[in-house]
Amino acid sequence: MSLPQFKLLRPRTVAEAVGYLARFASQSPPTSPGQDARADLRIIAGGTDLIPSMRQKLFEPEYVLEIRHIAELNGIREQGSGVEIGALTPLSTIEHSELLRRRYPVLTEAVSTVASPVIRNMGTIGGNICLDTRCLWYNQSLTWRKACGFCIKKDGDLCHVAPGGTKCWAAFSGDTPPALLCLNAEIEIAGPSGTRRISLGDFYTGAGDNYRKLQPNELLTRIFLPETSADYRGVYRKLRIRGSIDYPLAGVAVALRRSNGHIADAKVALTAVNPAPVLVKRATEMLAGKTLTETLAEAVGDLAAKTAKPLTTSALTPEYRREMIRVFAKRALLATND
Ligand SMILES: Cc1cc2nc3c(=O)[nH]c(=O)nc-3n(C[C@H](O)[C@H](O)[C@H](O)COP(=O)(O)OP(=O)(O)OC[C@H]3O[C@@H](n4cnc5c(N)ncnc54)[C@H](O)[C@@H]3O)c2cc1C
Ligand code: SF4
Repeated sequence: MSLPQFKLLRPRTVAEAVGYLARFASQSPPTSPGQDARADLRIIAGGTDLIPSMRQKLFEPEYVLEIRHIAELNGIREQGSGVEIGALTPLSTIEHSELLRRRYPVLTEAVSTVASPVIRNMGTIGGNICLDTRCLWYNQSLTWRKACGFCIKKDGDLCHVAPGGTKCWAAFSGDTPPALLCLNAEIEIAGPSGTRRISLGDFYTGAGDNYRKLQPNELLTRIFLPETSADYRGVYRKLRIRGSIDYPLAGVAVALRRSNGHIADAKVALTAVNPAPVLVKRATEMLAGKTLTETLAEAVGDLAAKTAKPLTTSALTPEYRREMIRVFAKRALLATND
């Protein structure tokens, strides 16, 4: 499958990138005389997800904004008592960071399960957070999609997964966002009017087609891990077809802190079973102040399974994926006892 033709833009600074976005991103209303409102643009970081999608003609942008040379967005820094991670930091750098392994182990666990070592060298944390949602009917070649009929997410007006509905249920399938949700991570977004900082939980819409709250003229620049989430026990469990490389088909992250043998605070988050990564909200209150027993872990597993809404968007059945959420949530919690 060949790549469509495009023009490559290579900013070296965030300011330059924002300038290109203001000028060439399609849906942003023209704000300056030189702006071309018709042009379409996609941001590329490591390209490990975008390039295959462009080959499948899911995106045929006129411009590709290659941000990987923006040095200021690459690296892990202690900031106050928390940690700042540049959006262009490769996943392998995060995987091998001693600081993160010691202070935020759930992130280290999750990142080390992404794809394969080679892909983790290329792929970035920003790309993982912004990852497109996935579906059997969508991540296919143009010929395949044309033969089976287009759908709401791309070029069509119906959903093969939930016929009769108007919503796209494509699953968010990044491994690091559930870990970041457990850590109360915030993200910085840069755009024409400066930067804004929001909680990662507020970044996703919960719709499979328009899945993130990012304007076409904005980019993700930094991730912040607060001091208050440091030093929790962290565990990540993931279901995939090929253990060596695949996207998650269900994933559970757990971050838990004890005090005097009791749970002082705990968070449980899921990926790959909803159009957004989600926190299992009542899990925190269910676990607070208790001693972790098999029965309690099982009850949280039941709650996690209820939070998961998998549909037939992948090769494994929704029933199996939901059941594995239940099993993984219980196992991940019990693993914090080790
Ligand atoms: C064989 C294979 C297996 C994979 N397995 C996994 C897996 O197990 N788990 C997993 O999580 N992922 C997996 N991936 C997907 C991918 O490798 C990772 O998610 C990676 O982190 C994506 O980062 P990237 O920098 O390569 O993103 P890109 O491909 O460059 O971009 C991905 C998306 O994010 C947008 N984007 C990137 N950076 C920014 C930014 N700073 N601001 C705004 N938008 C941005 C792009 O426009 C694009 O829409 C797999 C990919 C392949 C090819
Ligand atoms: S969930 Fe439905 S609309 Fe969304 S990609 Fe799959 S088939 Fe298309």
